Amino acid sequence: MDDCIFCKIMKGEIPSYTIYEDDEVKVFLDINPSTNGDALLVPKKHIVTIDDLSSDALLHFFEVTLKVKKLMEVRLHIDGLTICQNNGHGQDVKHFHVHLTPRYVNDNLKHDFNKEILVDIAKVHEQLTK
Ligand code: AMP
Ligand code: ZN
Repeated sequence: MDDCIFCKIMKGEIPSYTIYEDDEVKVFLDINPSTNGDALLVPKKHIVTIDDLSSDALLHFFEVTLKVKKLMEVRLHIDGLTICQNNGHGQDVKHFHVHLTPRYVNDNLKHDFNKEILVDIAKVHEQLTK
């Protein structure tokens, strides 16, 4: 897509700090990192949400994630990895991407999930299963 920022990165029209690349995906550093080494795994094809992914692609993305995790363990000495992926509301860039966020002991990273809102878990369970 012409006006898509990640398509522009794929075409080399915008620079990126790429740390892994193959025929299907690029993994590059997030310009607004949550922690040291925060990266995005992005398919080369313009795919918008998880709904548009094939099973083969899903498997491949997890295999690449594992490779990148090992790279980060060796080079950055990460203590953990948080994997996060937004679809629709909450997704700023409408080109599918997976956040690969290194975790470090004492990194104090907080995802603000509105924990103070009381949710009727039993009701939600009913909505999802009945
Ligand atoms: P999301 O809210 O899940 O769509 O996340 C989009 C992510 O893309 C954010 O973490 C941005 O910091 C990141 N981002 C946006 N533009 C660029 C860019 N040119 N290079 C690297 N990361 C980017
Ligand atoms: Zn795109």
